[in-house]
Amino acid sequence: MSITIKNLTKVYGNQKALDNVSLSIGEGEIVGLLGPNGAGKSTMMKILTCFIPPTSGDAEVCGFNIFDNPMEIKRTIGYLSEQNPLYYDMYVREFLLFVAGIHKIEKKKRKARVEEIIELTGLTKEANKKIGALSKGYKQRVGIAQALIHDPAVLILDEPTTGLDPNQLVEVRNLIKQIGQTKTVLLSTHIMQEVEAMCTRVIIINNGRLVADDDTVQLSEGGNLEKKFREITANM
Ligand code: ADP
Ligand code: MG
Repeated sequence: MSITIKNLTKVYGNQKALDNVSLSIGEGEIVGLLGPNGAGKSTMMKILTCFIPPTSGDAEVCGFNIFDNPMEIKRTIGYLSEQNPLYYDMYVREFLLFVAGIHKIEKKKRKARVEEIIELTGLTKEANKKIGALSKGYKQRVGIAQALIHDPAVLILDEPTTGLDPNQLVEVRNLIKQIGQTKTVLLSTHIMQEVEAMCTRVIIINNGRLVADDDTVQLSEGGNLEKKFREITANM
């Protein structure tokens, strides 16, 4: 299993952000994580990437435990967080070289790896620009590029397409689909068509609880995932 979550609960003050969630994701799956705002999607991702600890429960990524092996997990995972934090004053290529250094990619291989990722993420024309000067779609590509630089087995993408225009949306979606051919991907989104287009499996959480986990086609009953989503997440 790439990801195993057991009875995961996260409480912030008196707010239960995750409530006893258990699930597992196999190698090579592309899974869409859906849920209304505040459902607990980002919290689940932050726990899996070892940015925050759960209140109770446990999780493993590629056999590494979040409590015992956080460094190994950070090496195994590529993470694009919801805010996509980037250094706007750095140039794209400079930033990716910097991230490659953080991941301790061998010095003599760093440049070649950065060029490879620049090409893969369609950043060739933007590579000499300052990140702050890029459009939202290209900033998002830089976020995906930094998540991929160390060739992680698992990618965790928190709303990677939010705020993109229709063209950027299709481009970034295609990029994720392409990347997903060789990796396990867990991505959150509010766009149902995106899940239908990219994900073989859908997980829905609502108020911190797991309320659906199924094959995309199965869950949407051959058609309307949006309708199903509203049914599942209404009156809860
Ligand atoms: P989602 O990503 O699905 O929108 P989040 O995981 O960000 O949901 O949030 C789940 C719930 O936990 C929300 O009610 C949110 O307000 C709350 N929450 C998230 N982070 C914190 C925090 N650091 N402190 C207090 N409450 C938080
Ligand atoms: Mg979120």
